[in-house]
Amino acid sequence: MLVVMKHGASETEVRTVVDEIEKLGYEARPMPGKQRTTVGLMGNDGDVDAARIQGLSGVLEVIPVTKPYKQVSREWRDSDTVVELGNGVRFGGEEINIIAGPCAVEGAEDILDIAHQLKEAGATVLRGGAFKPRTSPYSWQGLGEDGLKMLARAREATGMAIVTEALDPDGVDLVAQYADIIQIGARNMQNYPVLRRAGRSNTPVLLKRGMSATINELLLAAEYILAEGNQDVILCERGVRSFDTHTRNLLDLTAIPVVKSLSHLPIIADPSHGTGIRDKVIPMARAAVAAGADGLMVEVHANPPEARSDGAQSLYPDQFQELMDQIPVIAKAIGREVQLPAS
Ligand code: PEP
Ligand code: MN
Repeated sequence: MLVVMKHGASETEVRTVVDEIEKLGYEARPMPGKQRTTVGLMGNDGDVDAARIQGLSGVLEVIPVTKPYKQVSREWRDSDTVVELGNGVRFGGEEINIIAGPCAVEGAEDILDIAHQLKEAGATVLRGGAFKPRTSPYSWQGLGEDGLKMLARAREATGMAIVTEALDPDGVDLVAQYADIIQIGARNMQNYPVLRRAGRSNTPVLLKRGMSATINELLLAAEYILAEGNQDVILCERGVRSFDTHTRNLLDLTAIPVVKSLSHLPIIADPSHGTGIRDKVIPMARAAVAAGADGLMVEVHANPPEARSDGAQSLYPDQFQELMDQIPVIAKAIGREVQLPAS
């Protein structure tokens, strides 16, 4: 439930609403806005008797939040959330940002070289897993903290922001020491201890849709993060399991306009995991931007056949350049722009 205060409601009136909500046994979150203050009521998963609050002085209206998720919903907050990173990169505004990089960090030189090329092509955020969630326990699992240090050096050298995955709650804190965005992968979308820890962090979170998760489940997973206090969540559509074997996953582009209507959070698309096949990545990346995605996350490797993971879906650098030549044209057609690296 959301309590909208009248324009110019006094601090005492807001305080009285907060006290009343707490007396009912719920948590109150006052949210001062430009026009008026709203007070969110949290901790209920069903109906609350609004009559007592509706009658309080300074209250304009009480809006029931009808969805199972609260803080992530458009009912809770009408205007789009813009997640701003330290280097000025913004997700969720008018601009589109492109995240690119190898599936995994493989070495200090490699990540530095590719970072320079990606930045040159227009990417603002560098990706690369240091802790890899592999389907087989015998597959290579990533470079761990050494990989995080290599990413941090690439950030220093290029000014790009970095995003990398955390696999467990302690990993969330470790990744937050190095990265600008903590990635929570598809396999961990419903790992509640990981979500809660990310919710207590001050670092923005990239939450990827689970491979069999509904859109409601994705939004409820994001709710865990917001409920702990971290409002900076970027959602990511990365494909769901389907019955067709022509692609690794089925990139659900409908999720983009659906999420946009249900939630104020930004949503980007990952056409690399979404298709699993290099020559399908560019068409689906173009389609995702046309569908309204706030950004893309694309795997690029200097020499994909030699990649230690996901080579089959990684673009060659010249293909990435081709994509980056096309995306601004599509963005412009729908009134958006691609945010480019600052320098
Ligand atoms: C990744 O982006 O590196 C990754 C493992 O993706 P997903 O969680 O979508 O499988
Ligand atoms: Mn990958």
